[in-house]
Amino acid sequence: MSDTHQLLLLPGDGIGPEIMAQAVKVLHWLRDHRGLNVELTEELVGGASLKAHDTPIRDEVIEQARHADAVLFGSVGDPAWKDAPFEKRPEVAILRLRKELGLYANLRPAKLFDALLSASALKPEVVRGLDLMIVRETVGGVYFGEPRGIETLPDGTKRGVNTEVYTTAEIERVARVAFELARQRDGRVCSVEKGNVMESGLLWREVVTSLHKAEYSDVTLTHMLADNCAMQLVRDPRQFDVMVTGNLFGDLLSDLASMLTGSLGMLPSATLGAENEHGKRAALYEPIHGSAPDIAGKGSANPLAQILSLAMLLRYSLNRPEDAELIERAVSGVLADGLRTADIAGEGDARATTEQMGEAVLKKM
Ligand code: ATP
Ligand code: MG
Repeated sequence: MSDTHQLLLLPGDGIGPEIMAQAVKVLHWLRDHRGLNVELTEELVGGASLKAHDTPIRDEVIEQARHADAVLFGSVGDPAWKDAPFEKRPEVAILRLRKELGLYANLRPAKLFDALLSASALKPEVVRGLDLMIVRETVGGVYFGEPRGIETLPDGTKRGVNTEVYTTAEIERVARVAFELARQRDGRVCSVEKGNVMESGLLWREVVTSLHKAEYSDVTLTHMLADNCAMQLVRDPRQFDVMVTGNLFGDLLSDLASMLTGSLGMLPSATLGAENEHGKRAALYEPIHGSAPDIAGKGSANPLAQILSLAMLLRYSLNRPEDAELIERAVSGVLADGLRTADIAGEGDARATTEQMGEAVLKKM
């Protein structure tokens, strides 16, 4: 095996290519100045792939993703295909990647940069210094459990059914991700379920508790019911470090947490899968925002979520925490200098372009 890291870049459509271009500049800089040994391959997905190949993602791109050390993804969602049959929608690209790479743990940090304190939905004294991480299970739970469907009853009325199912193995592997993360952070995990009314939640609590006891007793573990958790996230979000929860609660709580930090254009994410026989973990990194078709092509999109997604990639897939910190400090510094793209600009602020924001981050580094 060589020491060269293989990265697959999938810019996608909408603002994806514009913000990816800024992250690529950062990658080139790290290669030239920090000895980062990477080989970059770029492929079309989403609307861009539909235009060129009549499919949202080619099988060979899935194969490339499987063999890469990590995937840096932009965004997909070009509305030109919104009325197309399902398999011809841009979003299929990311759905297939998640499924075929077995990406079961979604990591969403909610970190508030001091310079953006006023953008938060909460009061400064409640959120200053906020830095939490939600780990959401993504391939199981009520979104996938069987039985499911809509059936017609004998009296002609209908019944819609979804089932929350979690197995010991599914809970354990995502909890493990959370405990490992906590060791790299503040050493605390809060596990979230509704074991008071759901059997899957009861099992969740049981499995997390016994894994903690067996292997992670150095980490502080607490449990919280999901409804209380939603309330606590708004009341006092800084009580949390790492949170781990199922698919449905994670979906809701991570969107809630993202509003605590102010801007969609600022938030990165990682999705991790199982380790293969060579001990390599499948991983995909992407901004939490979509393809923002309303501003695509205007050069005004905020590239920071994409650049911060690259920082996560460096930290979790390439084991380069110093490079990740360098990027994060540069982003923090640029914001402290007052640079703002339109989405995070206040009333009287000058508006930087995508390119200017990317260049400013590079200069800071
Ligand atoms: P999806 O269904 O893919 O989540 P969406 O339309 O719900 O797409 P986004 O594409 O994320 O959500 O866009 C929501 C709003 O946020 C839009 O007005 C968009 O312009 C804005 N937005 C999203 N990302 C950025 C960004 N990086 N920079 C500036 N504005 C952004
Ligand atoms: Mg959306």
